[in-house]
Amino acid sequence: MDQPYRLIFMGPQGSGKGTQAQCVSRTLHIPSFSMGQLLRDEVARQSPIGQQVAPLLNAGELVPASLAVEVLRSRLSASDAQNGFILDGFPRNQEQYDAFQFMVPTHVVVLELSDAAATERLSRRLTCNQCGQIYSMDDRQEGDACSCGGRLIHRKDDRAEAISRRLEIYHQKTKPIIESYDKQGLVHRVSAQGSVQEVHDRIIAALGLRPGSSACPI
Ligand SMILES: [Zn+2]
Repeated sequence: MDQPYRLIFMGPQGSGKGTQAQCVSRTLHIPSFSMGQLLRDEVARQSPIGQQVAPLLNAGELVPASLAVEVLRSRLSASDAQNGFILDGFPRNQEQYDAFQFMVPTHVVVLELSDAAATERLSRRLTCNQCGQIYSMDDRQEGDACSCGGRLIHRKDDRAEAISRRLEIYHQKTKPIIESYDKQGLVHRVSAQGSVQEVHDRIIAALGLRPGSSACPI
């Protein structure tokens, strides 16, 4: 492919898109970022945008699309993003989509998972309170240590009631955005069922690359 990959990963909470974004980032040697992480970085750096955003994040409020897109524009202009990038979970609603029209992705990868399966996964999900790494209660438990030294917690919004609210928002607000990208012929739907490696291979194939040549490096 001649032009750099400009990838957007979408999917419901629990579809594993964060993990897949990291995997594909290492396979293709392009950076991956999520809006949440970019905003937290701005706050940590105490940049002018960070100072505007901090009170909103602390209050659990939505950051206006105009601010979010400003943060994104600055990240996309960094030298490491010139050969491609993965944007994890943005845009999520019409306002963000409209503000983001300056960038046309090459592929929108949509990880598909039923609500029941998403709920099942999220209810067993543990998150490191320091680095954000995701684990499962299949092989870890709350309070265990992460390799970074952090501690594994069961996030409040990974509990049943919050999960159904988040999935509802995904259906109402994000699915219409996916339809808009679909009309432009950019959407590649990939089943999020199965192992991390299986899903990774499906994404690599959806991008027109040969699977199997790339073990998920995580
Ligand atoms: Zn950690």
